[in-house]
Amino acid sequence: MRVRSVWPARVALALVFLALNLASLMLWHQLKQDQQERVDERVSYEAHSLARQLESTLHTEVESLGRIARLWNSLGRLPRDSWEHEAELALADFPAYQSVQWVGADLQMRWLLPLLGNEAAVNFRLTPDHPNYPLAMQARVSGEQRFSNSFPLVQGGRGFILYTPLYLQDVQGRKQFDGFLQGVFRVEPLMDELLSQLDRGSFGVRLLENDQSLYSYEHPDTQPQMSREVELHLLNNDTFSLQLSPTATLLRNLDTPLPEVVLGSGLAISLLLVAALALALENARRAGAMQQANILLQEEADLREETERRLRDSSERLQLVLDLTDSSHDSLFIFDTSSREVLHMNQATYAGLGYRAEHFARLLRDNPEQLLPGFHTWLEEARTAQGDNQSRIFQRELCRRDGSRQPAEINTQLVQLGEREYLIAVSRDNSERLALEARLQRLSQLDGLTGLYNRRFFDQQLQSEWRRLRRIGAPLTLLMLDIDHFKAFNDSLGHLAGDDALRQVGEILQSSLQREGDVACRYGGEEFAMILANTAQDGGEHVARRVHDLVAELAIAHPASPVGRLTLSIGLAVAEPVGEEQPWDLVARSDRALYEAKHQGRNRTHVWNPDQTGNGKPRV
Ligand code: GH3
Ligand code: MG
Ligand code: MG
Repeated sequence: MRVRSVWPARVALALVFLALNLASLMLWHQLKQDQQERVDERVSYEAHSLARQLESTLHTEVESLGRIARLWNSLGRLPRDSWEHEAELALADFPAYQSVQWVGADLQMRWLLPLLGNEAAVNFRLTPDHPNYPLAMQARVSGEQRFSNSFPLVQGGRGFILYTPLYLQDVQGRKQFDGFLQGVFRVEPLMDELLSQLDRGSFGVRLLENDQSLYSYEHPDTQPQMSREVELHLLNNDTFSLQLSPTATLLRNLDTPLPEVVLGSGLAISLLLVAALALALENARRAGAMQQANILLQEEADLREETERRLRDSSERLQLVLDLTDSSHDSLFIFDTSSREVLHMNQATYAGLGYRAEHFARLLRDNPEQLLPGFHTWLEEARTAQGDNQSRIFQRELCRRDGSRQPAEINTQLVQLGEREYLIAVSRDNSERLALEARLQRLSQLDGLTGLYNRRFFDQQLQSEWRRLRRIGAPLTLLMLDIDHFKAFNDSLGHLAGDDALRQVGEILQSSLQREGDVACRYGGEEFAMILANTAQDGGEHVARRVHDLVAELAIAHPASPVGRLTLSIGLAVAEPVGEEQPWDLVARSDRALYEAKHQGRNRTHVWNPDQTGNGKPRV
């Protein structure tokens, strides 16, 4: 089973995280916008409310001056004290007045209250060069009140004038212009009065005339970028506007931490949610991986169990095989060639030689030559034979515990395992076979009738003795013997008697050998040969004489022989250890000598000499 890739899930998780964060940001943005709108609404409300208040205040004053004008217009010019009473009422009612004045039809200042602070205006006359002159004329013509733009007051500073035209009725009932009732307002007191109701900690205010600041009340932390401008309608005059700016304090008061809380919470929640999902995902992945690991572990455990079972089986089988090797009569032993520690050996290995297992192993390790003489040479030979692909069967001798030797045919196999070299040796006690082979060998060398060595052995022996004696520089004497008239013997006494005679002669020849290494052979038919090693002519003649004597002593009757008994003739030749002669030269010479002995009358020995070369019939 394969663990599914976690990447799609991770990507999905990242997308969820992004979406949640985006939603949080959008919510935060929306809340921020709402808050901004609330601030705007509050500023706008306050600005409108202030504008309406200003308009309403001025209209009240307009109305109070209008009321005096109506009295003037209907009742005629008011007496000064009545006018002053009315004017003082107006002044008392509205502290923002700079003054209340009556300017006559000639536009010359007549009455003025209060006098204090307005002394400069007592002799004022509205002339056409005055900025308010056109407006005043409009008021005069229209009969309606007019509110001026700001202008520099003669008393100093800037102010406004509310022109209220006054008329008198003439006798014909026509309206006669009688000057203006003027309300003069100074900008600062007017605005201060107006702003007395305003929360000054929350707003900054500017009075604008044609977008030029006429008055301003600025708080240090006013936020002009959030200001709100509201137009003022002061009777005929629309040039004024009021600009209200919130202060940072107001913004702070209106500010709620809700958007940030929502944003923070949203981000935290999305983070937590995604973390929880990631955790769940990781858990699922780990659970999957663990399940996978468990499956693999189970498979491995099964495999191990199976392997252990097989190992157990094979180990039991191996033990059985090793135990079975104990039933073998052949030795089987395996050892490390460098440490000579035994890896395995069967019972036949040590018991057959009379050792206990530990003793054998110790000897092999500490003193292998004591177990197998020539051990190290044998090991080298085994390596060479294996390298050259030659026979790895060695004939060696193992030492029994009692000191005796046991011939052993050892089959070797060297095995290299890593750094180590092991020798597997199968050894067999082949003494019986060797004895049998030796017997067969011996039988193959013997003559069946006489028990002497046969012709084949003669040839081998002559060759080897020839070489040996040549090496040591010793002479070799060869006697060739032939029974005289043996055909006739057979003819007269029968073949069986002939065989018997041959046996008796053989025994005599055997008994006449005196030195070790001398051999008597049946050369063929009734012919014999004697190889006398390291024997010169004298010695050879001595043996020949002895043979003649013993045959004579035997006294086998031979009816067809001139002497009446069985005799034989001997040819003697001696090979000196010099010259170029070969063994067959010696045979030929002794053969010639035999021929000569026959020729000279038989029952004698003839010694070959070089002068006789060419005499006699050669025997091939
Ligand atoms: P000479 O004195 O010249 O040697 O005369 P001879 O009769 O011995 O001559 P020859 O060598 O020709 O004869 C050998 C005879 O030996 C012939 C054969 O009958 C006999 N003979 C050879 N081998 C055997 C054998 O194994 N047993 C018997 N009984 N006779 C044998
Ligand atoms: Mg013969
Ligand atoms: Mg003969």
